[in-house]
Amino acid sequence: MTGGLRIGRILGIPIYLHPTWFLVFLLISFALAAEVGMRFPDWPDAARYVAGGAISILFFGSILLHELGHSVLAQRHHVAVRSITLFVFGGVALMERDPDDARAEFEIAIAGPIVSAALALVFLAGLRALPEESAGAFVAWWLFRINLAVALFNLLPGFPLDGGRVLRAVLWARTGDVRRATRIAAGVGQALAYGFIAIGALQALDPRWLGVGRADGLWLAFIGWFLLSASGAAIRQVDLDASLEGLRARDLLAPIPARISAAEPVASFAREQVMRGRRWALVEDAGRLVGLITLSDVQRLDPDQWESTPVLRVATPADQMLTATPETPVRDILVAMGTRDVNQIPIIEHDQVLGAVTRETLVHALELRRLSG
Ligand SMILES: [Zn+2]
Repeated sequence: MTGGLRIGRILGIPIYLHPTWFLVFLLISFALAAEVGMRFPDWPDAARYVAGGAISILFFGSILLHELGHSVLAQRHHVAVRSITLFVFGGVALMERDPDDARAEFEIAIAGPIVSAALALVFLAGLRALPEESAGAFVAWWLFRINLAVALFNLLPGFPLDGGRVLRAVLWARTGDVRRATRIAAGVGQALAYGFIAIGALQALDPRWLGVGRADGLWLAFIGWFLLSASGAAIRQVDLDASLEGLRARDLLAPIPARISAAEPVASFAREQVMRGRRWALVEDAGRLVGLITLSDVQRLDPDQWESTPVLRVATPADQMLTATPETPVRDILVAMGTRDVNQIPIIEHDQVLGAVTRETLVHALELRRLSG
């Protein structure tokens, strides 16, 4: 759940609005406009919609602060945060890797709900300070309630909710076994998810059941479905980690398919390398590594310019290339490929490129390990 429209950068972290966010922003703004209309019947339509949109923005501002809470602690524990994305179910801070120890996991996980609870207290204080029945008091009341709900919901102990991460941290600290801790916490996540789906479906079928709307039931079931897929993915990830145990880059080293000179035109890479089924090549200048070019770099360039553009111009420069050493654990390589969206990582030792780990060799190794049990 990343990508979308980039709206800025905070603490060095790019902030994105996912396409699904716009939908939920409109839904919440319209619902709030309707509520404002009931409370303040003499307000003109335009004022109701402006108020609805403004409260909605304050709500998503609160969600952003929750994610920044996780991010500040992550950075303090030397876990890089690649992005924060607001989407249909709230926000997500994408971390480059899991924290190193249970204590870091606990602090990063609990920081978000603490921010939401603190915001709830701030809005509660505002509610107390503002005159009753005023527009300001309505805004403070709504934001108090929603931030409290965000804090409590996220503290449910199912991984990957924040509470599930707290549970994982506690189990991890007690047993020293992060995989077992993840399996248990994600198992609770799956159980919660089935509960949400069942309760939500019953509510959607019969609104008298909980006394709220059918749409609320559908929404709960939808959240359950999302949680189910996320906790299932966490369990699969643990199984994958177990199967990659002990493997290092040197065990999966594949040869470099081709080396191409920096001044060669893109056309010759397209013609000679791609025609031979090679999807990427190292770019060299007088025997020195200066970059890496892939088929997708070529596809971004207008074919009319292939003859006149040197490969170095479209290649990823050496200083931005993702590389690893022969001793890098394969698990880290897999994570890096996923977060940086690359298919090959050159393996370098003492300034010498020994070869590369590619997605193909990885898939092969996984398949072999699976077959050999
Ligand atoms: Zn959170």
